[in-house]
Amino acid sequence: MPPAHPFDFDAWETDLGGDKPKEECGIFGVIGTADAANFVALGLHALQHRGQEAGGIVCHDPEQGFNSARRFGYVRDNFTKQSLMETLPGPLAIGHVRYSTAGSKGHTAIRDVQPFFGEFSMGGAAIAHNGNITNADALRKELIERGSIFQSSSDSECIIHLMARSLQRRVPERMMDALRRVEGAFSVVAMTRTKLIGVRDPLGVRPLVLGKIGEGWALSSETCALDIIGAEFVREVEPGEMVVIEDGEVKSLRPFQPARPRFCIFEHVYFSRPDSILNGQSVYTTRRQIGVELAREAPVEADIVCPVPDSGTPAAIGFSQESGIPYAMGIIRNQYMGRTFIEPTEQIRNMGVRLKLNVNRALIEGKRVILVDDSVVRGTTSRKIKEMILDAGAKEVHFRIASPPTAWPCFYGVDTPQREKLLAATMSEEEMRLHLAVDSLKFITLDGLYRAVGEAKGRDPNAPQYCDACFSGDYPVEPADQINKGFELKAAE
Ligand code: SF4
Repeated sequence: MPPAHPFDFDAWETDLGGDKPKEECGIFGVIGTADAANFVALGLHALQHRGQEAGGIVCHDPEQGFNSARRFGYVRDNFTKQSLMETLPGPLAIGHVRYSTAGSKGHTAIRDVQPFFGEFSMGGAAIAHNGNITNADALRKELIERGSIFQSSSDSECIIHLMARSLQRRVPERMMDALRRVEGAFSVVAMTRTKLIGVRDPLGVRPLVLGKIGEGWALSSETCALDIIGAEFVREVEPGEMVVIEDGEVKSLRPFQPARPRFCIFEHVYFSRPDSILNGQSVYTTRRQIGVELAREAPVEADIVCPVPDSGTPAAIGFSQESGIPYAMGIIRNQYMGRTFIEPTEQIRNMGVRLKLNVNRALIEGKRVILVDDSVVRGTTSRKIKEMILDAGAKEVHFRIASPPTAWPCFYGVDTPQREKLLAATMSEEEMRLHLAVDSLKFITLDGLYRAVGEAKGRDPNAPQYCDACFSGDYPVEPADQINKGFELKAAE
């Protein structure tokens, strides 16, 4: 189905983005600065790639108490308005940008927009969650049976209700109680009247970092959002760690049983911004190294290496450097796809991917072209891009993909299609090549990807160092709700 409006960027993103995993959510919090909500708005703006549907901020001011604002759309279109920001005073604030990985997927209701707020006997608390709770259905059922009244369809709201039921006196302890019942992937920022709290799940699937800004502190999904507010990156919140920040002091707690970390390897490939640092490594450098590994694993004779913009760019640079084949910007992305009111016509609707990407014909004509992309999910975009390249007169098209075949859905906070819709779930690499009708198609191997992220010996099959379930089918946390709905795990080999 074409989107309702031809220049509706979000609709096209959904249409074309069906061929890409969707980023999860971004979370940000600040304590100890004047007008913390302004910093949070800037931080969320830098995290916008992690969620574009909606955003929200909750803040606290000693005189005015808690305030909040939740809006659909981009941060820049909402949280830049003075009239709105004046309603969000105080030295403590948290925020969230959302892409709906759970709840009303693709149809966000304002009640689903985080942060969520709860008023407890000992005071209020707000939380913002990045990830996905894999036992949320069971928890919700249990909580409703015990009298909880849910306001949203979001899995994250379970945390607030579990906190409300805890018998602990203080918010951090209530939160520990709640999070010990939760399974899956979660990075959380939370706040009370006086505390900023950050938590990562025991496996540390989703990122969370700590920064220092003047006398204050910040928590963020990624380091790129610390940069925008001039905060210094201090360290990552460790897997299984809870940090409680109050009166300028950071207290570190360990509420969970220790576990072997399994950070999401796809953050390195695609989700995080290339100017962020993950696990002490520059995302850009890792992506370039993926291209180097790919060139070693899957060399091919060609005239130029072109990235599929933007996320294929660093890997294409690495491929070019390693192979010695010149790098060329053979595809140009239109950076200015905004909402413009033009009547849709069939002709415009059929332009599809051409609205976003255009081939640089002068570079492509008569050439053997290597296209480097970050992933192939359904294959629809890859096919369209290949057609554009051939239309521009390319002699050969060779796809090189900077991730292994995506054959399994993610249940940890990333929106991937159901398994049947994933090209790699039903086709071999050669079948995918024939389906895409390209001269060659190669994916980086899992070991190659692990080497690129710094694991010199590749993936340890007995104790994998990362979550790679969408490639391997090896789910580090059993997706209980999905299994109850009929999802079948990979059979033991
Ligand atoms: S399944 Fe894939 S996208 Fe999801 S957390 Fe694991 S590696 Fe990341």
